[in-house]
Amino acid sequence: MTSGGSPSAATSGRPSIGIAGAGIAGLALAGALHRSGYPVTVFEERPEFAPTGAGITIWPNALAALDSLGLGDRIRAAGNPVGAGGIRTADGRWLRRMDRARIEAALGEPLIAIHRVELIELLAEAIGTNDLRFSAGVTGFKPNGGRVKALLADGTTAEVDALIGADGFRSAIARQLQPDIRERYAGYTAWRGVAETDTAHLGDDGEPAEFWGRRHQFGFVPLGRGRTYWFATETAPAATTFGDDLDHLRSTLHDWPSPVAALLDATACGAISRHDIYDRTVARRWSAGAVTLVGDAAHPMRPHLGQGGCQALEDAAILGRLCEGSAPLDAFAEYERLRQRRARRYVRLSALAGRTNSLPWPLQGALHQVIRTIPDKLALRQLSAVSGRKAFR
Ligand SMILES: Cc1cc2nc3c(=O)[nH]c(=O)nc-3n(C[C@H](O)[C@H](O)[C@H](O)COP(=O)(O)OP(=O)(O)OC[C@H]3O[C@@H](n4cnc5c(N)ncnc54)[C@H](O)[C@@H]3O)c2cc1C
Repeated sequence: MTSGGSPSAATSGRPSIGIAGAGIAGLALAGALHRSGYPVTVFEERPEFAPTGAGITIWPNALAALDSLGLGDRIRAAGNPVGAGGIRTADGRWLRRMDRARIEAALGEPLIAIHRVELIELLAEAIGTNDLRFSAGVTGFKPNGGRVKALLADGTTAEVDALIGADGFRSAIARQLQPDIRERYAGYTAWRGVAETDTAHLGDDGEPAEFWGRRHQFGFVPLGRGRTYWFATETAPAATTFGDDLDHLRSTLHDWPSPVAALLDATACGAISRHDIYDRTVARRWSAGAVTLVGDAAHPMRPHLGQGGCQALEDAAILGRLCEGSAPLDAFAEYERLRQRRARRYVRLSALAGRTNSLPWPLQGALHQVIRTIPDKLALRQLSAVSGRKAFR
């Protein structure tokens, strides 16, 4: 490194690695590389970690990845296990409902719902504070002999032996590797929020669920310690403004089944965020020489399977493991070979799941009928293949 506080390659014997982005992918990978003795510097464009945020569900495939990163039990202890749940219509009827024992048998263990702020804090604990540079946006890179210069937004550069783009959906590194990356609006917007209440006292109504209506979906899972993570979507033109987001959702969903209104009422205005959902080209090539991509930078996906962050953790676990035994350049090529096909499958499945938002009504009705009639055994087999512990290899 030409700057920053990491140990030098000379002291650790390992080449130095720069990571652009301190999100789930960047921090999880930094922790793995740090443990293997690499001098790592994470460059984050924000001035600090976001003090607020929503929840996130970590499925057992990602818990298996976290176990291999040595972090699984800490995340399980900080989060809340979610076993039962299902899909309901906007008038409250269950389209599919699974009990805890069957879900856990299929997945290998319950999924974990955790507050994002807590997840990021736990991932960041696994690296030294000197390894993290805030207000350090990476705008691109320049190959420099066998090394790489990371170009920083303040006009300076940082030279490393290898650079990893973990800079999310809008990744500057991915766009330099592949300038023809495109984004396309998916046709709906998504809110996420944390309600300061739990649903345990509500009986059946408190069971985690997704409600599917004609233009809206709403889902919730308990985060533990009296909090519930919820999300909502609405079919709408791109960049629609809704005035006060909470007021809009409270009035639009006021007659939806319990606990929708109660969760919205128990949400503070600072505890809600909204993103229009876009599809983005999956990077054709993740690696070029001493540069590679992880997480959303490589393979952004729609949120419906709750797998974007989980796949970022799988990337980190696999790449971290490969870097333990091989030089980064060899590891990058093998990582891309092992991960690319699998990640593309999740991108396709997530887009397919997301299209339920924009189907015209008669087709939505037909889809509900299909969901009602698929045998549990088949549904559980599919769930296990996508999100079960054994899905991570
Ligand atoms: C509504 C919604 C719900 C979701 N729910 C789930 C869920 O339940 N489970 C799940 O697994 N996934 C979920 N996801 C997906 C998940 O949030 C993402 O896949 C995940 O955050 C990707 O992690 P990442 O580290 O690759 O990218 P990001 O989380 O985007 O992190 C990128 C980091 O890089 C920084 N950065 C950006 N550009 C630069 C730059 N040029 N230089 C330096 N730093 C930069 C950013 O500030 C950020 O800190 C959901 C997504 C949405 C929109």
